[in-house]
Amino acid sequence: MPELPDLFYVSRYLQRLILNRRIVSTTIHQPVVIRNIIGDPVEDVLRDLFFTRIDYHGPFLRFTLSSMVEIVVNLMLAGRVQHQQKGDHPLGFKLLAMKLDDGTWLNICDQQKMAKIYLVHPGDYAAIPGFADQGMNIRSKEFSEDYFKQLAVKHSRKQVRVFINDHSALSSIGNAYADEILFEAKIHPKTIVASLTADDLAALYRAIGSVIQHGIDHVAEAAQPIHEKVRDHMKVRNRQGQPCPRCGTKVRREGVHGYDVFFCPTCQPVKRKVFIDWSKQH
Ligand SMILES: [Zn+2]
Repeated sequence: MPELPDLFYVSRYLQRLILNRRIVSTTIHQPVVIRNIIGDPVEDVLRDLFFTRIDYHGPFLRFTLSSMVEIVVNLMLAGRVQHQQKGDHPLGFKLLAMKLDDGTWLNICDQQKMAKIYLVHPGDYAAIPGFADQGMNIRSKEFSEDYFKQLAVKHSRKQVRVFINDHSALSSIGNAYADEILFEAKIHPKTIVASLTADDLAALYRAIGSVIQHGIDHVAEAAQPIHEKVRDHMKVRNRQGQPCPRCGTKVRREGVHGYDVFFCPTCQPVKRKVFIDWSKQH
């Protein structure tokens, strides 16, 4: 699943290369993944429009076009966006392909066909599950340590891994970066939020900022094509059995609510079951 640093890179890249470009024509390869709220045939709508803005919102990529049209894409687990330049081979499993006026193509592809492509008018997001109820943008100025601590109180009964992974609370941290953030903060993924100390929460807040920023910087430096997922900077994610880069203990994998989580059992020990009353911690 593309995560915030991936979507940051993809949107910056596309802002540089396709902003103000015109869509010459659009080919639909998998109609089943398209939710067309506008109503007119997609091939007719997505023709002779210009890209006026490209950004991301939580896990969604958003392409704003001229004539009050937006394409919102949720790439889900395996979806990819390819900017196919002259001489490039198209990726397989295309869902939708847009030919642009500079001779390049913007392809949305997904082997699993789980990605969703929404065609909407700007602001009309009611038909897009999860779009309107994204939580606090973790890159925004409003995401302060105080805000985070208040949010933790609201989610105090959850396991910490579930809490930071909840897009309606924090927008947005996916599975890979959630593991990396907890490793950085030295917190066991199954710790109940209510048993985190004020220092733990402060460390967790700092780790969210630093790990996401490191991801953004690393993905930018790697400068791979936008359809490649850069994960070689991960310290514990998908590294089961490999030595922890901090202490050498083998990284372990466990399930949390059906998701695989990776952590170091030495650096991220299980906490004693002591519940902290934060109202008395200042
Ligand atoms: Zn370790």
